Amino acid sequence: MDTIIRNTTILTMNAHNEILEHADILIRDDVIAKIGPNLAETAECAQIIDGSGKLVMPGLINGHCHVPMTLLRNYADDMDLQTWLFDHIFPVEDRLNDEDVYWGSLLGIMEMIATGTTCFADMYYHMDSIASAVESSGIRAQLSRGQTCMDTGSDFSGNRAMQESVDFVKKWNGAAGGRITAAMAPHAVYTCSADYIRAIARHAEKLEVPIHVHLDETATEHEDCLKNHGKTPTAYLSDLGLFDLKTIAAHCVWINGDDMALLKEKDVSVIHCPASNLKLASGIAPVPQAHSMGLNVCIGTDGASSNNNLNLWEDMYLTSILHKGNTRNPKVITAVETLRMATVNGAKALGMSCVGSVEEGKKADLIMVSLEKPHIKPLHNICSALVYSAQGSDVCMTMVDGRILYQDGEFRTIDREKVWYHLEKVCNRLFG
Ligand SMILES: [Zn+2]
Repeated sequence: MDTIIRNTTILTMNAHNEILEHADILIRDDVIAKIGPNLAETAECAQIIDGSGKLVMPGLINGHCHVPMTLLRNYADDMDLQTWLFDHIFPVEDRLNDEDVYWGSLLGIMEMIATGTTCFADMYYHMDSIASAVESSGIRAQLSRGQTCMDTGSDFSGNRAMQESVDFVKKWNGAAGGRITAAMAPHAVYTCSADYIRAIARHAEKLEVPIHVHLDETATEHEDCLKNHGKTPTAYLSDLGLFDLKTIAAHCVWINGDDMALLKEKDVSVIHCPASNLKLASGIAPVPQAHSMGLNVCIGTDGASSNNNLNLWEDMYLTSILHKGNTRNPKVITAVETLRMATVNGAKALGMSCVGSVEEGKKADLIMVSLEKPHIKPLHNICSALVYSAQGSDVCMTMVDGRILYQDGEFRTIDREKVWYHLEKVCNRLFG
């Protein structure tokens, strides 16, 4: 089945960040088959979309999320991370069941596809429920079962989280036509023992899946690691062999120059979560330095209870302005660099070379943004307009694998009323 998008502006995010005007895109099944002016209508053409007044760009990639935490949105705010996590979040999470996680995930996925995110990396538990929501909604995701355990001297053969994690990888890696990939996820240095991290790394290596980890998020984590292990969280995890596996590291707020050199050497991707880091007062990650040292920096929302939404446009905006103010240098992290972080860099981090740019042969994971808006006109510079002026609500179409998931306010794969109904039931049970 073919789809043609006619007469549109394309921000390709190819190697030259090329922008094409008055271009057509032919999408055949799940692939971008052809890009060019005035493409001929094909015999298999099932739909033609008018792209005038709109911009097509790669779907956004959210590099760090805990999608069911939408259920905890605006539930515990204005407190430090340790209090927030241990006194408020963990006690509710202990009461979550598979069904809660399924509906919370669908809610978060609705929010992401309505704001142009086509792929996200997630770390949580009740992972079968999240994978089911990803499968039915049509979005793309790399999913991992977050693991915490401070036991030492064990082979962890009876460890429930380890078993669930391994089972999840075996069941879901490559599922939903390849839209779902799996990773393994030691939660953080302060919630996992060295033995546990080594055991997770051994399993991940054997299963040939990557690692998703929280890294150096707070000053407390950094100082405690120095006190307990005599090294920074980055050096500690590197010495445990974790970074010998392909890894995405969320936050990296307190990493120093040596840490950055190590992350660069080990090809670890840094997931910058500015809204979460600011809201939890964790600090400001040294993104300009990491970027200038050639690290692969991407952008993530983190969970909706520390952001408090999953709209990546806000995190793009923060990424682009926060570091200018912090370094008092308006030249750092340009609009186009920010857009690369949210698209191609995210694809590279997740090992998904098939997405991240609008180019012939790539998967048709793309979004349309309306340019006919008062806050965007006049259109002097497209990249500036997208990063400094556009809103998530300007997204008017979201496509994954050539399938439209969202168009003009309507969800094509998710029953909005059904989600609202179940959400109310879940919240009554959890908080009623
Ligand atoms: Zn997180």
